[in-house]
Amino acid sequence: MKKSKVVVLKFGGTSLGNVERLKNAAEIITSYKRKRYQPVVVVSAMGDTTDRLLSLANKITSSPTEREVDMLVSTGEQVSSSLLTMALHRIGENAVSFTGHQVGILTDSFHTRAKIVNIETRRIKQALKQGKIVVIAGFQGITPNNDISTLGRGGSDLSAVALAYTLGACACYIYTDVEGIYTADPRIVPAASKIGQISFDEMLEMASLGAQVMQTRAVEFAKKYNIPLVVKSSLSKGEGTVIMDTKRTLEGPVVRGITLNEESAKITVCDVPDKPGVAAGIFKELAEASVNVDMIVQNVSHKRITDISFTVDKSVLSKAVEAAERLAKKIGAADILSDQDIAKVSVVGIGMKSHPGVAAKVFKALSGRKVNIEMITTSEISISCVIAKKYGKIAVRALHKEFGL
Ligand code: ADP
Ligand code: ASP
Ligand code: MG
Repeated sequence: MKKSKVVVLKFGGTSLGNVERLKNAAEIITSYKRKRYQPVVVVSAMGDTTDRLLSLANKITSSPTEREVDMLVSTGEQVSSSLLTMALHRIGENAVSFTGHQVGILTDSFHTRAKIVNIETRRIKQALKQGKIVVIAGFQGITPNNDISTLGRGGSDLSAVALAYTLGACACYIYTDVEGIYTADPRIVPAASKIGQISFDEMLEMASLGAQVMQTRAVEFAKKYNIPLVVKSSLSKGEGTVIMDTKRTLEGPVVRGITLNEESAKITVCDVPDKPGVAAGIFKELAEASVNVDMIVQNVSHKRITDISFTVDKSVLSKAVEAAERLAKKIGAADILSDQDIAKVSVVGIGMKSHPGVAAKVFKALSGRKVNIEMITTSEISISCVIAKKYGKIAVRALHKEFGL
């Protein structure tokens, strides 16, 4: 079978943040064309456009409808796709831009967090056949009602991975503002090291625990369909990091990376009767309000009364508190407390499965900085601690040092 020459190139917001960066991205794309690849380019919105659009909406109303939010934020990617295409024209390339709708990125109806259901590749293939570079607005699709949908924050990563899969691309490059995946966010730990190769599982864990460099759902998709990804810088030359299905890392370092998530809030339901069915009641109420719960801790009960604490994303805090208050009334709980000033620090590594003592080292490093741990959870390949937000970055640096990364 002939190997596909289609290559998917995704450019993030910072890689398109101004006119110079747009021109720089156009040069990178051209270099693939010169090597006889057929580039399909996926773009994010320029710089912090999405954040600015969302804050504009919030100045008008604190509860905009999700359909209108999608209508609004999807414009960011339309701007960058057309400008990048113009930059390609300027240097003599044949290129065309498309919205998600135009290339048939079909999603479900869950506005602001839609799932891709199908991609109709006809129009893309037609343009490629005509020798055109195809530039697609990432992050967006179209619902069964023909309304614009978006794929969750960071969603143009997912657009790129899904297009690479559907088009049978020979490679998928994620161009961003750092040289690849690091052992910790280089903005927090300047001494963090770049990782050459990382497994899907470790990347998935790091992304879901706060490493914003790749969208979690995009990594999930890449893992499911075994699509290797290369994350690299659009601003400098370098090999980047390969994210792939690798067992090699089993022999690698015990801890791969440290992550920080400052987007969570903690809710405590106080003085809950300690009897069967109470936890089920709380989490049923939250599920009915479409609130995703992350960590859960139930304290030891005193005189058959206990406290239950859990964390949720800050964006759904008010919804979660309302749901908890409704339940508190039903079960006779005393009080609902919420705390937005928390951070979750995590250590991630496949090697943890076979190496004891990681948890002890984590707690030692945190106590060495006098950081109090409020909640702890573990998975097979990670340990996470909730601490006060003001200690978040200090904790990341302490753990990075402790594990010699
Ligand atoms: P883009 O606009 O290209 O999508 P993002 O801002 O979404 O870029 O992601 C890149 C940023 O992710 C980097 O600037 C970096 O600060 C941050 N980041 C967090 N954790 C990591 C990590 N472990 N490795 C690399 N970058 C990380
Ligand atoms: N522009 C969108 C966001 O900021 C999508 C993306 O960057 O991938 O979330
Ligand atoms: Mg991103």
